[in-house]
Amino acid sequence: MSLAKHFPRKRLGQHWLKDNLILNKIIRAAELSSEDRVLEIGPGKGSLTHCLLSTSINSLYAIELDQNLIQGLNNRFASNSRFSLLQGDFLTPSLISFDQVKANKVVANIPYNITGPILNKLLGRLGSSPEYRFDRLVLLMQKEVADRILAKPGQSIFSALTVRIQLLSKCKDVCSVAPSCFYPPPKVHSKVVAFEPLPDSERLSAELEVKIDHLLTHAFRYRRKKLRNSLLGIAPLDILSSIAKDNGFTLDQRPQELSKIQWVYLAKKLILRNIS
Ligand code: SAH
Repeated sequence: MSLAKHFPRKRLGQHWLKDNLILNKIIRAAELSSEDRVLEIGPGKGSLTHCLLSTSINSLYAIELDQNLIQGLNNRFASNSRFSLLQGDFLTPSLISFDQVKANKVVANIPYNITGPILNKLLGRLGSSPEYRFDRLVLLMQKEVADRILAKPGQSIFSALTVRIQLLSKCKDVCSVAPSCFYPPPKVHSKVVAFEPLPDSERLSAELEVKIDHLLTHAFRYRRKKLRNSLLGIAPLDILSSIAKDNGFTLDQRPQELSKIQWVYLAKKLILRNIS
């Protein structure tokens, strides 16, 4: 099917980015050079693909789920020897081997309904190294999720996701994107975020990361609850209270009021006291 005849499919999160200013900001945020091997998830009709191939990058590897777009994308780009296209679901574990593709950057306007699993696949999880480490990811995502990732302590949107992603990568707000920048316009606002996954040398120990992950799961399950209640059962209250005092918070605070550093501190102290 030709790209012109394709009707956007909501189920696949198809909202074509048509704003040149935003496309340029994405390209700039990717800091591309002639050595870069770029992976694009969901090229759609190819607006971002076109911009990426207009730079001097070494190669672009695109993965598109929608079979109906494949021929059109190939008609448009296959004559460019730096372009490869694979049809399939990016989340299928055996679809591609990152080690073989050797992409060092991911640049994509991702389908919003699978943002969480995509981030897990690209950044890994606390307690384990990612299956492959990219130098940089520039992702266009739903603003609400981006804001949670970028949140500061004390903001109501500060969440377990904030601490988890910020312990796995350095993240930067690139720009906001209004619904009118897409066709068809999505119901939600969007944002471009740049991630730099941390090398192992800048990550915490696996034991500490697992401990933090565990604490976050407990504390943020009921975000309106005070820590005194949500951390009940994790450790005796007098111990929690004394660790809190030493680090400038109290158990009367709520989980979103603690900084990333305070979560790390709390987990460290619990490990030192052999509290699992
Ligand atoms: N990059 C394009 C399209 C973005 S819309 C643009 O900016 O205009 C999201 C794209 O991801 C769609 O083309 C959709 O078909 C594709 N997609 C959805 N789920 C996918 C998956 N699991 N794996 C790969 N691509 C997927």
